[in-house]
Amino acid sequence: MTKNSVSENFASNVFNEAVMKERLPKETYQSMKKTMEQGLSLDASTAQIVANAMKDWALEKGATHYTHWFQPMTGVTAEKHDSFISPTADGKAIMEFSGKALIMGEPDASSFPSGGLRATFEARGYTAWDPTSYAFVKDGTLYIPTAFCSYTGEVLDKKTPLLRSMEALNKQGLRVLKCLNMPANRIVVNVGPEQEYFLVDREKYKERKDLVLTGRTLFGAMPPKGQELDDHYFGSIKDRVGEFMKDLDEHLWSFGIYSKTKHNEVAPAQHEFAPIFCKANLAVDQNQLGMETLKKVAIKHNMACLLHEKPFAGVNGSGKHNNWSIGTDLGDNLLDPGKDPLNNKQFLIFLCAIIEAVDDYADLLRLSVATAGNDHRLGANEAPPAIISIFLGDYLSKVLEAKVAGKTSLKDSENKLQTGVESLPVLNKDNTDRNRTSPFAFTGNKFEFRMPGSSQSIAGLNFALNTMVAESLRKLADRLESADDLDRAIDEYIKDIMDLHYNRIVFNGNNYSDEWKEEAARRGLPNLVNTPMARREFINEKNIDLLTRHGILTKEEMYSRYEINMENYAKTINIEALTMLEMAKEQILPAVLKYTKGVLKGLALKKDCGIAAEEETKYAAKLSELSEKMFVKIKALEDTLEAKDTSDIEAEAMYYADKVLPAMEELRAVSDELETMVDEKAWPIPTYTDLLFYL
Ligand code: ADP
Ligand code: MG
Repeated sequence: MTKNSVSENFASNVFNEAVMKERLPKETYQSMKKTMEQGLSLDASTAQIVANAMKDWALEKGATHYTHWFQPMTGVTAEKHDSFISPTADGKAIMEFSGKALIMGEPDASSFPSGGLRATFEARGYTAWDPTSYAFVKDGTLYIPTAFCSYTGEVLDKKTPLLRSMEALNKQGLRVLKCLNMPANRIVVNVGPEQEYFLVDREKYKERKDLVLTGRTLFGAMPPKGQELDDHYFGSIKDRVGEFMKDLDEHLWSFGIYSKTKHNEVAPAQHEFAPIFCKANLAVDQNQLGMETLKKVAIKHNMACLLHEKPFAGVNGSGKHNNWSIGTDLGDNLLDPGKDPLNNKQFLIFLCAIIEAVDDYADLLRLSVATAGNDHRLGANEAPPAIISIFLGDYLSKVLEAKVAGKTSLKDSENKLQTGVESLPVLNKDNTDRNRTSPFAFTGNKFEFRMPGSSQSIAGLNFALNTMVAESLRKLADRLESADDLDRAIDEYIKDIMDLHYNRIVFNGNNYSDEWKEEAARRGLPNLVNTPMARREFINEKNIDLLTRHGILTKEEMYSRYEINMENYAKTINIEALTMLEMAKEQILPAVLKYTKGVLKGLALKKDCGIAAEEETKYAAKLSELSEKMFVKIKALEDTLEAKDTSDIEAEAMYYADKVLPAMEELRAVSDELETMVDEKAWPIPTYTDLLFYL
């Protein structure tokens, strides 16, 4: 592709502002723009004009259908396609799209999880266009990004609370800015998610039921080589992968996604792409679309893209760094420290508000990334631990300490960076990003939340983050609005946050170390080690107060989400356990028994000829012992599943964590040992070496 064709291709499948400007009557465009900027709803007559223009544009792009694209609680997107076709009196057809069909849709969505919110007699929900996120054409269909609610008004998706949290942050943030006399019409939340993934050969993938059904390998002995040489990270990209990445970029660009960075990651066969940040709701939509595109393009290249958090034991899993910042509609980044952060009041108070929010709602932030898949990563010395803390870096820490000590400038020695490169800006990346072990790190002019799993929607964690910070800003605004002396109020605020929160939640050291776990326990920070432990905190009083106070979710909606997430955890592990049993009983054991039989036959022949085969006899005995052990472990897993505690959904989820997972581990261990003993040609499924190194 030439440079020009890249820019021509860019956003060619998106009905964005440029297209609207070109295709809508001036007045309609103006009112559409206002709707988008202020998050208003669209009136019927404008909707009709927009719908017509959108349809004509989509038809030119080859679309025949449209869909309301929404994000139910499953964490993946959902779509139901309707064609534009409409009958005419003379038995022909015209292509039609009404304003009503643009604004609202009624998918028969009774099968989506609602956590008991909808009685079946009123099971219907409706979708409503989110005009702040652009419509786009993909595979012959016009996609309209929407929110999803029940007819009685309950929120059934991940998008609505996100939009509401952005509104809450806007409201409270503007109050604070007003006190500071800082110009702004809106507070904008920006998000840039870095997406990790694995690529494996599609033919080999199809031979692994575990990958197909659960997204991760449930069996597999370590290959002789893993990631210990660090030769894959940023290494040169293999041709086949390079072709894939090129194709991927072209697809992403056509959807208006500013895919910017691509590189190899730490583990073999692991890669990453990162788009340039944009408004939070758009970033969420684009990340969902990005994940779908990864999978689709991989198929085209006869590969499978694995988005699971831990597809392979023994090498790094995949995450998604959620880069997050808040700014104004006038382009100011409120987290930009500027040249003199010590005297940058606006920066310091927003920073302090975030410190308070993360300390007060560490549990909420933690649980927002708790899934069965992500449990394999967090705390496994490849991703941050399950304990939330903030990394500020030495420089910013010194700034805050100096501020509280009443200083107005830092000593030269404190101010200079120790990089030895004079030309680097004061707060460059090296200074703030050296610590890769922190779950929540300040990186220059944004926070980078490093705990999210690679497969999860980033809607939930961002609505948690936005709302927590909105709450701190609310309290801050209350203080500033009633202050007689603004400067003094600000100084006192910073001092209070430092006293109450700084020494608890800020940690600049190595988050992977055991000392940190002990230190965190002394500080009283929550350590929610698995999904059921984390997710049950969603419905604690503090979190219910927070989300209801800011109008994000009702208490009933929170209980329903708690249930859905617990249930999802239990179901996920149940599927994994059943898949393991099937593979063990129908693939691995039969192969091992057959192979052992051959070994025993050989031994018998040798015995007949009077050939001593001492070691070989031991080997055959060991094979038999392990297959016997495998029978035992299969039975044990079956019994564990049988005996599960179903008294309530939380108990059931806990049971899967405490009882089922360990039983699965034990079964796997036997099989993995056998794998190292059996002829590789006799092994019934592709090995780790096949999957990780032969692309
Ligand atoms: P890394 O070294 O972690 O890969 P990068 O500097 O490449 O970090 O940025 C990672 C992501 O952060 C990108 O998506 C980028 O657009 C995003 N990002 C940069 N600045 C901001 C900001 N102010 N707010 C939100 N996201 C940002
Ligand atoms: Mg990063």
